[in-house]
Amino acid sequence: MGDTDRIRRVAQRVERAARDGNGVVVVVSAMGSTTDRLVQQAHEVSPAPPGRELDMLLTAGERISMSLLAMAIHARGLTARSFTGSQAGIITDAVHGKARILDITPGRITEALGGGHVVIVAGFQGVSRESKDVTTLGRGGSDTTAVALAAALGAPVCEIYTDVDGVYTADPRLVPAAQRLREVSHEEMLELAACGARVLQVRSVEYARNHGVDIHVRSSFSWQDGTWVRKATKTMEHPIISGVAHDTSEGKLVIRRVPDKPGVAAQIFTAFADANINVDMIVQNVGDDGTTDISCTLPRAEGPRALQLLEHVSSEIGAHHVTFDDQIAKVSLVGAGMKTHPGVAAAMFRALSEAGVNIEMISTSTIRISVVVRRADVDAAVTAVHEHFGLGGEDAGLGEVIAR
Ligand code: ASP
Ligand code: MG
Repeated sequence: MGDTDRIRRVAQRVERAARDGNGVVVVVSAMGSTTDRLVQQAHEVSPAPPGRELDMLLTAGERISMSLLAMAIHARGLTARSFTGSQAGIITDAVHGKARILDITPGRITEALGGGHVVIVAGFQGVSRESKDVTTLGRGGSDTTAVALAAALGAPVCEIYTDVDGVYTADPRLVPAAQRLREVSHEEMLELAACGARVLQVRSVEYARNHGVDIHVRSSFSWQDGTWVRKATKTMEHPIISGVAHDTSEGKLVIRRVPDKPGVAAQIFTAFADANINVDMIVQNVGDDGTTDISCTLPRAEGPRALQLLEHVSSEIGAHHVTFDDQIAKVSLVGAGMKTHPGVAAAMFRALSEAGVNIEMISTSTIRISVVVRRADVDAAVTAVHEHFGLGGEDAGLGEVIAR
């Protein structure tokens, strides 16, 4: 919801759904760059804003949206009731800035629906049962509010309206030939979201998978169908490959020549865990002189903190030196079909080599292959892999190239 004009248009869409005889619950996020602006203002008055107050501030963005939308719906002759996350019964833990939903007690929502009202809920926020304070669910958290409410209310679908018209086989800004996926399983969407596809908050997909909620990701600018994220079923098309995601938000930490003995990795990664640094890929080399190199990727913004922590640990464990490289990118190929099709990794690596892209790290899950490459190579890498698997053509995702 960019501006009040957009809000009026959303009201129109809501009216259409309501007049079709549906009970409608709308979860809103803040208008435009409101949240970014509030974060910036917080940092203008304090170098380290307390989490409690920051959450109090940020939840205001959604409160503005919810009340304006209620008024716009009212102006169309329907009645609407807006509720904060707390009023809507979104109960979370007390971790400010990334609270987890523990329970939903939507009594006021069902009551308002029963009274024939359109219900509007402020996204991205809840209240801690323990501290009684207002919390936020992490950036992009309105997606999670919507999925969680859909689950709690037993809604047949959770429609997420966004500024793109669905989930694509690759970022269309990078690969113009990328195609919209008609449907994708929760598992694949989870991997895509976790590997950099920014359409949905990772946590919302996790929640949808755990509670069996179907998500329809669609454009707020058109009536056209978008992408369905649902439980994998027998009737679902089963492409070998669903898409290529990329992520340029991480850096690579390399710890050189640590003693090759039990307990060293545990010590390093315990230090990160205790500092709440989320490590992604981890690679350890084979050492032959009694030492080994350990590398891992982690959010680029955490690089300086990770280095500082390791300065401590590395003298304890006797590491030679530690470096942090912030010029990397991660490219991931995702597809449920790769579980049963050999040769996908080989085909991906061949595509990268033909494009002259060097692979620095590799990691896999049963339905994903990720590589770390130079940041400067990310466009070439995504384009080459996307093309090699025929994702842009009519036969998107069929992956014949594997047999080639
Ligand atoms: N307004 C919050 C954010 O910008 C939540 C959301 O948009 O989903 O992160
Ligand atoms: Mg947002």
